[in-house]
Amino acid sequence: MIEMTLQERVAAERATGHNIAMEPPQECRMLWQRARAAGIPLGRLAILRRPLTAARIGGAWNRSTGDIWVLQSDDPAETLRRLLHELAHAERQSLRPATIDEDWDEEAATEHRARELAQRWDVGASFDGMPLSQSLAQIETLRERHHLAADLAATREPFQARAAYDAICNLAHSRGWGEATLEAALYDADEDDAVNAAIVDFSRAGLRASWRVGHGIGGSFGPLACQQDTRSGAILRSALRQATYLTTDWFSRRLVISTDAPRRLSLLLTLSEAAELPAVLSAAQALLLAHPDQSLLATWRCYGEPSEAVRTYQLSVSVDQETTHLWVLLRPRRPRDRIVEAALQRFILTWAEVTAIRNESFAEGLLTLWAQHG
Ligand SMILES: [Zn+2]
Repeated sequence: MIEMTLQERVAAERATGHNIAMEPPQECRMLWQRARAAGIPLGRLAILRRPLTAARIGGAWNRSTGDIWVLQSDDPAETLRRLLHELAHAERQSLRPATIDEDWDEEAATEHRARELAQRWDVGASFDGMPLSQSLAQIETLRERHHLAADLAATREPFQARAAYDAICNLAHSRGWGEATLEAALYDADEDDAVNAAIVDFSRAGLRASWRVGHGIGGSFGPLACQQDTRSGAILRSALRQATYLTTDWFSRRLVISTDAPRRLSLLLTLSEAAELPAVLSAAQALLLAHPDQSLLATWRCYGEPSEAVRTYQLSVSVDQETTHLWVLLRPRRPRDRIVEAALQRFILTWAEVTAIRNESFAEGLLTLWAQHG
């Protein structure tokens, strides 16, 4: 994946008529010079009117280029605090965190260091009214919330936990949830069960950096769509949490169908009751998030007849050198197990921003499966 430099990204925004970069204020330029003089390896500085990423962050430091961007605040002291924080990251040369706790331990240490740098560079006053204890308390709140978001996203990977939390904040914003409702929903503790269920519906698009969308995006299950309710959300929520801790190596369980380039592989699973849902979610997610440095193309298909309970689901994911098909043979054991399909569909819909969703006849599914394996 080719990463654009900060300059290129700002220029790309300008090309679409958005001049998001502003002239750095005098105090920011002064800090930048002090940091350079102190030997901190730095690239370029950009002060932005709106963030460069969709994430709700006030700035970012790029490990490889040393570039820093900071979101301008109406409060000049806040802009300075954001810059000091990113400069502290640059000075610490923080490694990419391996766990969610490492990520937030590093944020706490960086916040500490930002205050020391502020003192040293004579801008200690920028932290007036913002005691360290308050910043550290915010960091601990975020640490806890990122663990909860990770459970809802069935991952323990820190980059994905951040993306999941950000998407959950977007969902909360779009539903008009206040801070207290978001907090309660994360803990599965809102008095309205519909809220506790709805939090699973955040978009999974941000869980990987790059997608290919050549087959289009979105779609629906058409006549095969299940009714969604609080129960399907609760079942999905519980299954996601269990899937987070599954350690199955789904890649080694794939059957090789064709070794011609691009290679074709398949993985077959059955789903007949709620207890089997975590494995299906885990397998689907492993395929959707594999090869994080590449762009991935994914399509979901649901094959069935509205009058029949038996269905086949197919997830096809392609990267450069191979395509894997996950086949899920859905055969509810008892009438009450049909809710499991609603939960699966609910999960699939959370990928609709970056994957295509199609519905076709059961016969079509059999023919496709036969053609692939026959
Ligand atoms: Zn930070």
